Amino acid sequence: MNSSRPVPSVDAIRNCLKTVIDPELGDNVLDLGMIPSINVDTLGNVTIEIALTIASCPMRNTIKQNVIDRIEALPDVKSINIKISEMNKAQRANLMQRARQKAQNNPATTSIAPSTKVLAVASGKGGVGKSSLTANIAISLASKGLTIGVLDADIWGFSIPRILGVDGILAAKKKEAGIQIEPINKQVGKGNLKVVSMGFLSSEGEAIMWRGLILKRALQHFIEDVNWGPLDYLLIDMPPGTGDIQMGLSNMLPKTEMLIVTIPAKGAQKVASRAADMARKANLSILGVVENMSYFQCPDGNRYSIFGKGGGEQLSRDIQAPFLGSIPLDPSMAEKSDKGESVIDTDSPLSDPLKYLGEKILQQCPPASYMKSCTAYDLFESILKSDKS
Ligand code: ADP
Repeated sequence: MNSSRPVPSVDAIRNCLKTVIDPELGDNVLDLGMIPSINVDTLGNVTIEIALTIASCPMRNTIKQNVIDRIEALPDVKSINIKISEMNKAQRANLMQRARQKAQNNPATTSIAPSTKVLAVASGKGGVGKSSLTANIAISLASKGLTIGVLDADIWGFSIPRILGVDGILAAKKKEAGIQIEPINKQVGKGNLKVVSMGFLSSEGEAIMWRGLILKRALQHFIEDVNWGPLDYLLIDMPPGTGDIQMGLSNMLPKTEMLIVTIPAKGAQKVASRAADMARKANLSILGVVENMSYFQCPDGNRYSIFGKGGGEQLSRDIQAPFLGSIPLDPSMAEKSDKGESVIDTDSPLSDPLKYLGEKILQQCPPASYMKSCTAYDLFESILKSDKS
């Protein structure tokens, strides 16, 4: 009897590791030389060695968990064993050489500082709660005392101002090199939101007339001409549709990570997987998948899967990206959003899952201010400074 079973190939694992981005250096762990060895035995047990710049790097657990999440999503993996080692001097020099080259090849042409973590929230299909989640993730992160930019790039159906309860007209100042737009600010606890949306440019009716004309250029304007100032995260509520916007984003902000929102229904999953394909074609890395409207929980505790079950986890397996969580269905989302209020820190069953999602993002894609104690971060900062001078 032939007892051999299918096992993942080392090439498949290498390809998968190309999607794991070192949060400090903004490049994938494989090309940075952080994976000295990969072993797969005949049963599908995978052993991966991760070489860190210093063994005590505070990003150690984040990188390890990212590797596990990605490899786990590969078919035929029986178990994963991670060995952590420390780079020697020559390996560290190679890594910094690569990081330096990358920084030189991608000079910042935007008003967004390289230290800002950029998360683009996409879904492929409208009505799955992409804008509601973007707004609530922004609140959850800002309530930690962080400064969050929110760019409502969903020009065809902008709703961020209403959901966040921010109103106003964007003020533009004339500068030598053109105009500079000031975002609208909203304080959230000790944190701050800086919001830019087509909804602040004119009335909704007027905007419909000319937004088609500027669709392609709008994102570029909002990225290049807004005075964002220092941000921990920039969340971009992406428009559904073709890959043009993703391509533009990857040229302007190559370190952008995509967050894919879906609902459990099969149809939504297929279009969401196309959004993931477009992101990958544009060389954008995928942070993970969130399933919205997963179930409705009755006061008696029974849960009903109104739109089906398991679509989010299936999508995360299909596109080999981590599954970041399920958000239930609750009427308070629409009620609160219409009043410009958040469901976070209310008695809504959405509050805890959304806060958990915020925590997951902080863990998987931590802001630069959380990484200041890492030697590699200091090294990288000094390279950027010396390259600029
Ligand atoms: P999208 O940006 O994907 O088009 P929206 O965020 O505008 O979707 O959400 C579509 C509708 O669904 C809105 O009325 C919103 O209030 C509602 N909604 C979103 N998420 C939930 C949820 N978890 N529970 C209940 N209603 C939700």
